[in-house]
Amino acid sequence: MGVIVQKFGGTSVADAEKIHRAARRAIRAKLEGKQVVMVVSAMGKTTDKLVALAQDVSPHPPKREMDMLLTTGEQVTIALMAMAIHSVGHEAISFTGGQVGMITDASHSKARIKKIDADRIREHLDAGRIAIVAGFQGITEDGAITTLGRGGSDTTAVALAAALNAEVCEIYTDVDGVYTTDPRIVPQARKLDTISYDEMLEMASLGAGVMHSRAIEFGKKYNVPIHVRSSLTDANGTMILAETSDMEEIVVRGAALKRDLARVVLRGVPNKMGVAAQVFARIAKHNIMVDDIIQNVYREHNIANIGFTTNASEAMEAQAVCDDLARELGIESVELDEKVAKVSVVGIGMKTHSGVAAKMFNALAEAKVNIENISTSEIVISCIVRLDDAEKALQTIHDVFELDK
Ligand code: ASP
Ligand code: MG
Repeated sequence: MGVIVQKFGGTSVADAEKIHRAARRAIRAKLEGKQVVMVVSAMGKTTDKLVALAQDVSPHPPKREMDMLLTTGEQVTIALMAMAIHSVGHEAISFTGGQVGMITDASHSKARIKKIDADRIREHLDAGRIAIVAGFQGITEDGAITTLGRGGSDTTAVALAAALNAEVCEIYTDVDGVYTTDPRIVPQARKLDTISYDEMLEMASLGAGVMHSRAIEFGKKYNVPIHVRSSLTDANGTMILAETSDMEEIVVRGAALKRDLARVVLRGVPNKMGVAAQVFARIAKHNIMVDDIIQNVYREHNIANIGFTTNASEAMEAQAVCDDLARELGIESVELDEKVAKVSVVGIGMKTHSGVAAKMFNALAEAKVNIENISTSEIVISCIVRLDDAEKALQTIHDVFELDK
């Protein structure tokens, strides 16, 4: 009998009625002959409330205790979900991450899954029960409770689907699928029927917040088809799948905008061997995220400018670290620019089609959007633009690649 994993996010289990609706969905799949595993998040904004509560008690709570606290949110949902299913005469059993053998490393608040003991669930599935598993949590080899990072229930679901060799992992959420771009900015954005793992990974890292990146990585590694769909309707959502050759016919699948960026530029850097290494080693030591890096050399190769983009939230720290470096290495000045954004197009078809970059740059020029930096990979082209131009830029590239068609 085929296994199906259904994951319900916080908004899809926010109250008793929604819990019943999710329960009916699982029961229906069961009656259609599937073995059903449900993975659930904490109800509504529970996790945020728990985080706020911790802040009220202590400004720097130990990470181990944060994990202990946050995992209670999901534990509430699993129990209620099992009760909902029982109340309508079906068999269900709930499990914490630890009970289901979700073994992780010990990095509290961002633990990585090491292995899953799927046999424990299988036993119950074979006995005809719906298994309900708490998302977002695991346990270390020594029995400490861990969490997988915010949004981590997606990862629990896909990892379980992989371990159980499920036919599909369904992600039920409050949107009806993955869109060509953010419909709140571009009203013509269109729901995609399919997207490849690689495209979805890029879209996620470029700012499309549909799913936890780690979940998509799991899906790709173990080839788990992921169906992102609405918990309110029966309409099909978006399938995230391994790429097929006909997927390459579509050159650009989607466009993304990342707004919370900042750029740091070190001007007048002595162009000597090892300087860039020293700069980025120091930045890495402070765990500051570095996105695109640009270096230009001038004055007969003696001097360089090195710029990089980072998350807006890390900009001040990045600047402080660079100010120190400037003093130590004889760098002329450090500049911080917080008014930048990045627009990107993503598509595996770019591997086999040319002219995408020219078309994008041309459209931006016609829209009078200045491009301040360009970076590319096999399936992505990104431009740094002024923050004020960001929405116009996104609309422009969505139009020029006819993503609404
Ligand atoms: N409840 C956790 C969070 O809000 C995990 C999840 O929902 O995926 O981040
Ligand atoms: Mg979520």
